[in-house]
Amino acid sequence: MAEFAEVVLNLPIDRAFTYRIPEALRGRVRPGVRVTVPFRNRSEGGYVVRVADTASFPRLKDITGADEDVTADERLLDLARWMADRYACSWGEAVAAAIPSGVKKASPGKFVRLISAGEGEGATKKQKEVAAFARTLSAPLPLRDFVRRATTSTGVVAKLVAAGALREQQVRAEIEAMAEAIVEKPKEIRLTPDQVAALAAAEQPGVVLLHGVTGSGKTEVYLRAIERVVAAGRQAIVLVPEIALTPQTVSRFKARFRRVAVLHSVLTEADRAGQWRAIRAGEVDVVVGARSAVFAPVRSLGLVVLDEEHEAAYKQENVPRYHAREVAVERARREGASVILGTATPSLEALHAARGGTWRLARLPGRILGRELPEIEVVDMSAERAELKRQPAISRRLEQLMRQALERREQVILFLNRRGFLTHVSCPRCGWFFSCRKCDVAMTFHKESGRALCHYCFDSKPLPLSCPECQGPKLLQYGLGTERIESEVGRIFPGYRVVRMDSDSMKTRKDYGDSLGAFFGGKTDILVGTQMIAKGLDVPDVTLVGVISADTSFHVPDFRAAERTFQLITQVAGRTGRGPKGGRVVVQTHYPQHYAVKAAATYDFTGFTRQELEMRQETRYPPFMSLVRILVQGWDLGRVNECAGRLGVKLRAEFGPLEADLLGPAACPLARLKNRHRVHLLLKAPSLEAVLPRLRQLAGGFPDSRALQASMDVDPLSLL
Ligand code: ADP
Ligand code: ZN
Ligand code: ZN
Repeated sequence: MAEFAEVVLNLPIDRAFTYRIPEALRGRVRPGVRVTVPFRNRSEGGYVVRVADTASFPRLKDITGADEDVTADERLLDLARWMADRYACSWGEAVAAAIPSGVKKASPGKFVRLISAGEGEGATKKQKEVAAFARTLSAPLPLRDFVRRATTSTGVVAKLVAAGALREQQVRAEIEAMAEAIVEKPKEIRLTPDQVAALAAAEQPGVVLLHGVTGSGKTEVYLRAIERVVAAGRQAIVLVPEIALTPQTVSRFKARFRRVAVLHSVLTEADRAGQWRAIRAGEVDVVVGARSAVFAPVRSLGLVVLDEEHEAAYKQENVPRYHAREVAVERARREGASVILGTATPSLEALHAARGGTWRLARLPGRILGRELPEIEVVDMSAERAELKRQPAISRRLEQLMRQALERREQVILFLNRRGFLTHVSCPRCGWFFSCRKCDVAMTFHKESGRALCHYCFDSKPLPLSCPECQGPKLLQYGLGTERIESEVGRIFPGYRVVRMDSDSMKTRKDYGDSLGAFFGGKTDILVGTQMIAKGLDVPDVTLVGVISADTSFHVPDFRAAERTFQLITQVAGRTGRGPKGGRVVVQTHYPQHYAVKAAATYDFTGFTRQELEMRQETRYPPFMSLVRILVQGWDLGRVNECAGRLGVKLRAEFGPLEADLLGPAACPLARLKNRHRVHLLLKAPSLEAVLPRLRQLAGGFPDSRALQASMDVDPLSLL
């Protein structure tokens, strides 16, 4: 029996550490088993990646604890190893990210959910409070979460259960989570010839990019492809961007397949752990989830579907900074599965790979049943301001079309990618600008809470009545947010029912379900929201969509600004014209002549991508070059600059001009965040493989403390 084990830890040190396996744990410690080990006078959790009969060091510490189960199987360990190399993190960090944290704890086994029994309240004040909390619940809550959220103890809960004020339900997490389906009757559907061709393309091993306009029947293709995989005894993983985990999308999968697990991010740890175990035990055929579901431990992976392939939500912004699309493709390759990447607006990276022959391309150029794509009208907001001598939030044209639609009892969606009421407050006398004291960003005023909020660090302050610098009495307030649109709409269209959906108003999955339910049921006339409503919704009575400002991306210094604007307009337009009544779209912008706006308004994907690709090639950006961003952050600007400067010198010495271009160091657009200064360097390389190993070596020496830290992001999506 093996006496030694190599263990990887969830720390930024990319090596395995050797430990001795004590007698008592021999036989239980195998690759993939989670263990506890002493490390630098602490106890750390890690994963065994290898066991051996001999070790090259004489004095080794003992493993102090081990799980019974193999938590990470060998395929996952190997995939994590690949991720560590690809995304410049440690093996241990990659493994840790791939496993939901609940699974890392001891098995929860059976557990209890609690809900109000609607009678009895208990005797003490505390018991009354807990019973009152239980009555606010619309669904049972696991005991652990209940105790935490009601700030009580299991003792109090037990007393209330005994008194009949609370009801206990014993459930197995995984079964419960699967049973919440709202089953939709599958329609009898005959695939169109385009769908048949797309399905055939998806059937071959490898990757197919399914480029289909909104409402072209992509989801139907996914469902058919999954049916075949499941019939062959294999499993499928369906990845969706988090916000699109709409009840609507999910219910279509649940309606078609019996054994579906849905990995919502709002699941409790115990729920996630339960589902993970059910998936591993082979009790699930189809896994639907966000980014991290790409690691779902299905036994025989047949297919990965990645819906809305272009979405930035697939990129994880903290370590390991992986992109679920790349991980999905790599995992599928290793396990002999196929991949379908579906979208109405392929990312230029995916398009480039498909055109270059690395991936296949299938197209669904028209909507189902010959429905027209909605007409997109562009309104020039600068002209509107010149004529009206003020800047309206809603242009006259949009107002007119809204009135017409509402009078016909049709529904309207207004979209704005910015929360809050006012986004900028400043003093005209001295130029003072209301910004966060810890970050270099504007404070956004939220009328509902009556406070100004930093959207980056969540610091909040009351809105000053006069200038805090010069005591000037009048402050300028401008900038639009969804809250302000909601109130404008209420003023212009009294008597119509308006609902706002953004992360301020939608705190729980229930809020989300309720608001959507009201909109689907026709109880709401106007829906105002952020990107939360930009995708996935399919409501036949929506005949008008207004984009309040198409310009939100243009203000961000990012080479992808045009691409994001094009995608945004196209996606939002996809929310209308889905029923027999047709639909229209109004796009408000200060840049009506911008090529991204013009191309999106005429559905000219080809024209847009041709122009954009030319520009990317000229300026040497992805998909023609790979990017690596090195971010240095710290309390002291001098030390941050000094560190970034030193890294710049090292990088320039390491890479010749043919291997990489180096930009910077320069202050980040977000130059200070949570009191830490930020400076970055950007490396552009024609071949990532050629530079990564040396970059990783360099990263090994990066400072890593709150005071001064350097980090590396391979294929960054955010350059802020
Ligand atoms: P997408 O995913 O491209 O937005 P969907 O798959 O949601 O498109 O299809 C849009 C609508 O058309 C759905 O209501 C779907 O049930 C329906 N549909 C899809 N394919 C067909 C078909 N071949 N015949 C009739 N209806 C279809
Ligand atoms: Zn002032
Ligand atoms: Zn802040």
